[in-house]
Amino acid sequence: MTTVLWFRRDLRLHDHPALHEAAKDGPVIALFVLDQKLLKPAGAPRVAFLYRSLRALDHDLRQHGGQLVIRRGDPVNAVPKLVKEVDAAAVHVSGDFGPYGTRRDEAVDDALGDVPLVRTGSPYAVSPGRVTKDDGEVYKVYTPYYRTWKRHGWHSPATSIAGRVDWMSGIDSVDIPADPALPKGLKLPEAGEDAARKAWQKYRKGELSGYGDDRDRPDLDATSHMSVYLKFGALHPRTLLADLGQGDETYRGELAWRDFYATILATWPDSARDYFNPELKGMDYARPNSKAFEAWKDGRTGFPIVDAGMRQLLEQGWMHNRLRMIVASFLVKDLHIEWQHGARHFMRHLVDGDLASNQHGWQWTAGTGTDAAPYFRIFNPVTQGQKFDPKGDYVRRYVPELRDIEGKAVHTPWELDAPPADYPSPIVDHKEERKVALERYEQARR
Ligand code: FAD
Repeated sequence: MTTVLWFRRDLRLHDHPALHEAAKDGPVIALFVLDQKLLKPAGAPRVAFLYRSLRALDHDLRQHGGQLVIRRGDPVNAVPKLVKEVDAAAVHVSGDFGPYGTRRDEAVDDALGDVPLVRTGSPYAVSPGRVTKDDGEVYKVYTPYYRTWKRHGWHSPATSIAGRVDWMSGIDSVDIPADPALPKGLKLPEAGEDAARKAWQKYRKGELSGYGDDRDRPDLDATSHMSVYLKFGALHPRTLLADLGQGDETYRGELAWRDFYATILATWPDSARDYFNPELKGMDYARPNSKAFEAWKDGRTGFPIVDAGMRQLLEQGWMHNRLRMIVASFLVKDLHIEWQHGARHFMRHLVDGDLASNQHGWQWTAGTGTDAAPYFRIFNPVTQGQKFDPKGDYVRRYVPELRDIEGKAVHTPWELDAPPADYPSPIVDHKEERKVALERYEQARR
């Protein structure tokens, strides 16, 4: 019996539970559907990284005598069409828990009629719905979730069977499109499972041991950059967890945040757009089409740490976590622009753009999410820079106009006798905007 393995956010061949299920029945056809609904909101960097990941997967499948069949269109039509063409007995997938993926899979399931859509595994160490309070309720706070998540545990990585699968080839397929034009100078990490595994092993043997101490320091670039690989499933988080030791508690905890936010979004799908905690829903915000919003997007706010972060995003399609928090706080609390606008900009530019982690990262910063930083705790962009980029190396790396300023003076160029002429003065007075933000907060709570 031929089965179809429909790849989505699981672009790998190792540690792939759905592949194990698919291969049980006989020959397997590997499918990916280019779905405009998912491609449209993604900017060129994420689309290019996806195409490269697909090329790498196709290459790996060909090593085993298979091919990645690419189809275009709405999966509700494209998947049943292929099933009919090849007379497949089942379609196998890794479960998807996002709002769109859940709806899409239900519709595909219906359209398949008698042919089952079999969901095995998911992109998470522990799938949404498995870790709950004793009474079955979903945790809304991370720390107790984490304790139960750890107690619950996860499977060991599945053994690799790709070489033993009877892969089918010679099936009609459109080409994987050429990469869209990338912004000038943008460099993407190497895509594909092999590159992901190598990058992880290098990190694991190197900087992982210092992760707990250095993860908040963008100047040291001490985090793993695994988010881009986890986004498209070139690696399963269990593969990472299996390599962690006793001392890697902090890293383990970060992977749990990923599962936690996926659970929150799966339970409250509206929280992708709407306030998780509605307390601040009625707050007044500035218009998002302001000059200030454009300055934020371009990295020209005059606050060096904010600008460095925003320029890293444009240059790499990635931003350090500390910076994501600083620039998000700046947009919401210094420029008074509602979090959804910033979240949308991130989703366009991030290669790792993930609806659950992104929207809830923004809601956390805006003071409206789970475990949210209280709204009145407002990041000072200067002291954040001085604390987490103490020598100013991170700012100098991304803001060339400030490269001649030595040490941490780079965080306050306006204090120099001769500030660089080509770098803007701060577009707002942080002290003033802090007051405005607090007033808006008080008003919203009244
Ligand atoms: P590491 O520090 O090496 O962490 C290892 C892995 O743990 C990450 O790859 C990621 O999968 C997970 N992780 C770490 N921190 C978090 C976190 N706070 N929330 C959820 N998972 C986490 N992450 C995304 O993957 N996609 C996004 O679109 C995204 N948007 C964000 C937006 C905002 C405003 C904020 C504050 C955070 C966002 N994050 C997002 C979380 C975090 O910033 C990134 O996962 C992290 O910076 C990726 O770099 P890394 O792989 O080197 O992380």
